[in-house]
Amino acid sequence: MKTSRDLQGDQASRALAARAAAVIPGGANSNFRLAGPRRFWVSSDGARIVDVDGNECVDFVLGMGAAILGYSPRELLERVAEAQQDLQCPAGQQLAEIELAEKITELVPSAELVRIGCTGSEMVQLGLRLARAATGRSVVAKFAGHYHGWLDNIFAGTVALPGRGQFDAVTQTAGQSSKALEDLVILPWNNIEMLREFLTERGPEVAALIMEPVLCNTGVIAPADGYLEAVRSLCDEHGIVLIFDEVITGFRLAPGGAQARLGIVPDLTVLGKALGAGFPVAALAGRADLMKLIGDGIVMHGGTYNANAMCLAAAQAALETLSDPERAVHVRLEDTTELLLRGLEQVSDEHGGKLSVQGVTGVVNTTFAPPTPVTDYLTYHASDLDKQSKFIQLMDEENVRITSRGTWFISAAHTETDVDTALAAAKIVLCRMGQ
Ligand code: PLP
Repeated sequence: MKTSRDLQGDQASRALAARAAAVIPGGANSNFRLAGPRRFWVSSDGARIVDVDGNECVDFVLGMGAAILGYSPRELLERVAEAQQDLQCPAGQQLAEIELAEKITELVPSAELVRIGCTGSEMVQLGLRLARAATGRSVVAKFAGHYHGWLDNIFAGTVALPGRGQFDAVTQTAGQSSKALEDLVILPWNNIEMLREFLTERGPEVAALIMEPVLCNTGVIAPADGYLEAVRSLCDEHGIVLIFDEVITGFRLAPGGAQARLGIVPDLTVLGKALGAGFPVAALAGRADLMKLIGDGIVMHGGTYNANAMCLAAAQAALETLSDPERAVHVRLEDTTELLLRGLEQVSDEHGGKLSVQGVTGVVNTTFAPPTPVTDYLTYHASDLDKQSKFIQLMDEENVRITSRGTWFISAAHTETDVDTALAAAKIVLCRMGQ
């Protein structure tokens, strides 16, 4: 049976892949792009992206969640084009950075002061540095399955320790210093008892607790009822800086992110992705007494491209759109998410219920038949990840693009037709998989 992509072919992408491999390690510029289908993209618009062979995909990758307004948002691109006529990277101050910081403080509950950078990974580093400086402690606790960038001190492999519900942090790439992980502890998420027990023992050593407030890098998993409230009060009790990594959830779950939606205010917040709607801009925001350490020169933060004119213009345009009640972007995101969630559930029911679907506003994840509800890293990894990869590959052959983790990002540009196209593809794929 011919797939949608067979009709158009993939010769041009194959030729470019061979050419790329001769000059780029692995033929890709992020190792997260090494696995899975290798297509070369030539244009994108709204929720559609077109490859060099002329195949048009409905795209739920959206630049790994960055393109929240869809690809090529006209108004935003015009604002960027206009801004770059006057300034580019002055490595100095400009009005637009004040306006952007003001907008972030208006929208994000924890944001009293804001520093602007380029990537989520680097702003996480600034958050950790700040927490260590403020507390005089060195240990950072993260949670299994949460991703906070690819740098040495936080990019840890998670090895479950039998029986104890705890994890060992191990290096995840050759060349990573194992010493960089000496101050990192990995705990199970959504388990307040384990956290309480850990802090009773080691609380005085812990500078920061960092987490995705809704876990979007391993399935899409909501915090258990009361969990974040209990985390907040444990951090207060032990004098620990609570960092919400809202690189995915920020401006996506609500204009003020997961913290506004769930009503829990962290001490520091990392923002990225949707902030620039596809342009490389990120931020660290948080409590004034902590953030002031950066301004006082006690904690170092630098970067050649920080607060460049193009990214500032993109972020300002994105936040204006995302927070404009008349445009009601989040109502639209919510409606489209609901349509996709319910549609995928129905398709799954028609095929023996093997596809399990979870999601929140603007982000959905599909896995295969985990034996128990997906509530954390271990229950997610009990699902059939081989089937998951097969599903993603076959969806790609039907010209529906989802991330290599089975995550579907939804943008303001996705239409009912896009969702219908995706659901029709999912039916074909589950049939082909014999589900
Ligand atoms: N934090 C989270 C929650 C992320 O999902 C990511 C990237 O996917 C990062 C941090 C790292 O951001 P960046 O890729 O911009 O360095």
